Amino acid sequence: MRVLITGASRGIGRALLDHYTASPGTEAFGTVRGAAADTDRRLLPLDVTRPEDFPPLAARLDGAPLDLLVCNAGVFPGPDRSLATGIPASDFAAAFAVNVTGVWLTVEALLPALRLAPAPRIAIVSSLMGSSARAPGGSYAYRASKAAVTNLGRNLAADLASQGVAVGVYHPGWVRTNMGGPGADIGIAEAVAGLTTRFDALGPASTGVFEGWDGTPLAF
Ligand code: NDP
Repeated sequence: MRVLITGASRGIGRALLDHYTASPGTEAFGTVRGAAADTDRRLLPLDVTRPEDFPPLAARLDGAPLDLLVCNAGVFPGPDRSLATGIPASDFAAAFAVNVTGVWLTVEALLPALRLAPAPRIAIVSSLMGSSARAPGGSYAYRASKAAVTNLGRNLAADLASQGVAVGVYHPGWVRTNMGGPGADIGIAEAVAGLTTRFDALGPASTGVFEGWDGTPLAF
């Protein structure tokens, strides 16, 4: 099996890469920004906001089948900003460039390799913060971007079902990473154990799911 994970420099993405690297019969790649890609043969360069980065990435995969694509790269601009402080337009631009358009460009570039696999899967790491069922206010740019990418995943699932490409959207839990902070609910190992179990369960019968790392179905 061949797997590619975006945003593998640290956090959940790096732990997913390490998990699949250690899985027998699996060839795992992770994408990182900039020169860090030179330090580890598993790492490939990609800034998801740079359309020009995608053709070289697809070429590096040698036209071989890609079984699982995990769109994990994400940003949370201005975590301390609020309705009271004001939110600059640049927070929305940054959140959408990475969390939404970046996912779209990644899927578009790697679909040809996915279509070569016998049972291809696309896993999109979104967030419960993008769920319409839980809207306590705050974090407007991040929430709006995650709501958008969850919607994008559901529509991709519909479009790609006839081609046998399954698409799932996931909330990894509130995880102790740079983004989640030290006070978050769960560690990276717990999130990755849960997420990889969910990715294993993804297929034509479950395409279009939006669920938590523990398998809880979530409202779009
Ligand atoms: P981190 O901030 O630890 O890691 C984010 C990763 O995304 C890094 O590898 C970072 O690379 C990469 N990234 C950021 N911008 C770009 C870009 N323009 N192009 C390519 N890669 C980029 O976050 P987490 O590991 O916590 O988050 C992973 C995913 O999980 C995200 O999508 C996040 O929204 C989601 N999530 C996380 C939660 C949590 O509690 N931690 C909760 C809900 C969802 P670099 O090192 O170069 O910046």
